[in-house]
Order: sequence, then structure tokens, then C-alpha cells
Amino acid sequence: MAKVELVHGVEFSDRHPRDELLRAERLPHIWCPGCGLGIVTKCLVEGIKRSGIPADRHVVVSGIGCSSRIPGYLNLDTYHTTHGRAVAFATGIKIANPDLEVTVVSGDGDLFNIGGNHLIHAIRRNIDLNVFCVNNFNYGMTGGQFGATTPTGAKTSTTPYGNFEASFNIPYMIAASGASYVARWTTIHVRQLLKAMQRAFQVQGLAFIEIVSPCPPTFGELNNFDDGHAMMEYFKNCSRIDDHADLSKIGLSMRPPDPIVVGNFIDMKKPTYHEMERRLVEEARSRSK
Ligand code: SF4
Repeated sequence: MAKVELVHGVEFSDRHPRDELLRAERLPHIWCPGCGLGIVTKCLVEGIKRSGIPADRHVVVSGIGCSSRIPGYLNLDTYHTTHGRAVAFATGIKIANPDLEVTVVSGDGDLFNIGGNHLIHAIRRNIDLNVFCVNNFNYGMTGGQFGATTPTGAKTSTTPYGNFEASFNIPYMIAASGASYVARWTTIHVRQLLKAMQRAFQVQGLAFIEIVSPCPPTFGELNNFDDGHAMMEYFKNCSRIDDHADLSKIGLSMRPPDPIVVGNFIDMKKPTYHEMERRLVEEARSRSK
């Protein structure tokens, strides 16, 4: 029961309107000042509330890393799994109980480095999952090492002279693998991100959102962003919304003023894993009659 106090004639409650979906006893969170993960958590909680799907049908799964701490703050059925295995774990949940609304929230390192194979095969099968990938371009939790999404030329703790490898263009790769829904937003696009999450909860099939997010103490500091605010300024000033962008051309350099192309790129109806399976079983049954 919320306690309401009157301060200068204004009512103050000791509860937040979304407290029912949060494990307030786990707060304060562990994230650094200027990190984008608080914004992602806020959008996720709000999206779940607005989805119209009862909270007891939502399941949120993560792997390992800073982003993977999000489910621990949610008052839902949540699972913090081993590194890179969140999508495989979520696939098992969805196959065991298709009525559940299963969401994976994890980082670029977890989803694209360690767990890349699980991800592309879940997309190929078009399993009805939501995958929200927080891309901060490095392994923030373990000291800022480079990974598969670190832009070419960017500095990290393990590429002090700049990364000489090519990096994944996430929406292009996800679209090519066959996802039903593909979007990219940054943490400055709070309303668009929330709407994209709401849409992902409606989509039948795999819905994927890349969330470009600041990691000020590791990636930011080594790449000329003074603080989290500077990274958000870059997101604000250089993002270009283009739902019809040529996905092959929207790789990220993270060097101002190079653009960050954002949008809801793909939203299509295609058969899901469960629909294909049902069709096959029905065809086999009708043949055996
Ligand atoms: Fe956020 Fe980066 Fe700090 Fe991790 S290391 S909590 S991603 S700012």
C-alpha cells in the first residue's frame, strides 16, 4: 500500500507508478553515471505495462554483461543465464510454452560475439521472441575490450591504436538472417524506442531492436566523448531517421559528425517457427487419414 504525504499542498507517494514491475529492493542499480541502461530499463518496463499482456505471461531472459543485469531489477519471471546463451534459453522457454511473451535483453558482446550462432539460428527459424540488443560497442563490464561491434578505428582497452577489424552492421545482419521486425534507436529516442518495444510485443516472429547506448567510462572516454552527456549530444545531433534506409549502408563509425541512421526498418508478416511446425503436423495428419 502506497504512503501518500502532503508537501506544500502537493501529494507525494512513496511508490513509483511502475513499482509493481520493479524489484525496488534491488536498487540502487550497479550502472555507471551516464550509462544508457536506466533509459532502456524504463522503456522496457513501460513497454511491458502498455503491451496489454498480463505481467505473469512476460518472461525476460539475459546473458552476461552490464545490460544483462536489467532482468534482475524486474519483478517478473526473469532469468540471468550463462554468457551468450540467452537466446538459446529463451528459445527453450518459448517452445515449452508458446503462450509466454519471451524477451531477451542483452548486450552486443553477449549476443554477437559469444552467442552469435544462437542468435542467427533463432532468427532463421523465426521463433516468436523479442530480442533487444543494447549496443555500447565494447565489453563494458570487464574493462572495455573490443568486440564484433567495435567500429573500425575505434579505441578500446585492447585496441589502443584503434580497431583494425571490420565490425558487424547489426540491422543488416539481422535482416539478412530473416527477422520479422528490425529497428534501431538510440537512448535519446525514448519515445521511438518505447513504441518499437510495444510493436515488438505485437509482432509474430522474431522482433529485433538494436539500442545504441552510451558507455562513458570505457568506450566513451577512449573515443573523445568527455562524458555520457557528450555521447547523448552526438546521438541527438547526428541521428537521422530513415525507415527505408539501405541497410547495407548504415554501419556505425561512432565518430561525430558521421550519421547514426535509426528507424523501424523491417516489419513484415512471415511464418513463425510454431506456425511452420503446426502446418507440417496438420499435413502429416491429413495424409495419414
Ligand atoms: Fe554502463 Fe558501460 Fe558502466 Fe557498463 S561499463 S554500467 S555499459 S557505462
